Amino acid sequence: MNFTIIRFDMSVPNHLKPRFICKSSSEYFPVDTYRWQGTDGGLLDIEFEAVFPKDKILKRPPGMWRYREALPFPVDAEPVSFGEGFTPMPRVTVHGCEIFLKQEQLFPSGSYKDRGATLLVSHAKRIGVRHCVEDSSGNAGSAIAAYCARAGITCEIYVPADTSPGKLAQIRAYGAQLTLIPGSREATADAVRKAATTSYYASHVWNPFFFHGTKTFAYEIWEQLGFRAPDAVVLPVGNGTLLLGTAIGFEELRKAGEIERLPKIFGVQAERCAPLLGSESSNKDRLEITPSQQTIAEGIAIARPARGRQILEALNRCDGRVLSVGEEEILASLQRMCRQGFFIEPTSAATLAAI
Ligand SMILES: *Cc1c(COP(=O)(O)O)cnc(C)c1O
Repeated sequence: MNFTIIRFDMSVPNHLKPRFICKSSSEYFPVDTYRWQGTDGGLLDIEFEAVFPKDKILKRPPGMWRYREALPFPVDAEPVSFGEGFTPMPRVTVHGCEIFLKQEQLFPSGSYKDRGATLLVSHAKRIGVRHCVEDSSGNAGSAIAAYCARAGITCEIYVPADTSPGKLAQIRAYGAQLTLIPGSREATADAVRKAATTSYYASHVWNPFFFHGTKTFAYEIWEQLGFRAPDAVVLPVGNGTLLLGTAIGFEELRKAGEIERLPKIFGVQAERCAPLLGSESSNKDRLEITPSQQTIAEGIAIARPARGRQILEALNRCDGRVLSVGEEEILASLQRMCRQGFFIEPTSAATLAAI
């Protein structure tokens, strides 16, 4: 579909108006559009200046929408929200190492994907979307389905036919239409792209509004530490929706003069599926295709991340790197965390194993 709605809003200064940029073709596009890639098929990002007026932030309810002036969404527009965010961050000791554990499992649909979904679906609703499509093997599908249900937008979620039954039940329960695609994860991606020629593509990988929601993870850490950056952040990484959001968030805070230096960011992959491992300092345009196997960390089992190059560049900018962990280590961490009362999924345990 090829239409564009351009709204002229004279009340917003030009530098604060978000626009899409495709870095591979140096093109700009308005954000009020169904477009999800550049004319050469390149990735879109959002160019936008985030600001952090602390007096206003502190007066708002503790949730991710308190950073209104840092989100590419009109400050006076109503978001599609459940009051999500500001997840607690208790101190825990892991193998003698004291860390803060951000409780991202405490979101309405059960994962941090709600950070991306609330902004993406709010934007979609604002530009008049009534139906959207998304492809996911799990939590992103649940998050988009939940927020679409709240927004009154119908959605169709494409999933690989072998997706775990629990995730399918959750997506279905929200009233989303489920389309099971036999074969590989790539077959699912091909099918949704066909559908995305006539429907809005609410992709957690291609649609950059998703990343500008997940960046609030960085803002919350900054505020919860008393408006300071941590030394390091350890995250799971598959497609990079949390990692890239976190990098964007801390870079915006630094640009705004709120922090002096970026934390090191460590991205954790399962040994059995680690396409990003060891490529941090290589300058190749494309990642090599590495063989991958099934892993219990299914949330990070992404053999060919579309934004792989961007992830490695972000890690370079903050002096971070990729770590990998084995299946037994993941299982042991999962058990240890559950015995301490943290009910998390195996993918999240991989991060603890890496620490
Ligand atoms: C989606 C997800 C991940 C991986 O996120 P990517 O965007 O693929 O890097 C990790 N853990 C959980 C719980 C997730 O839902």
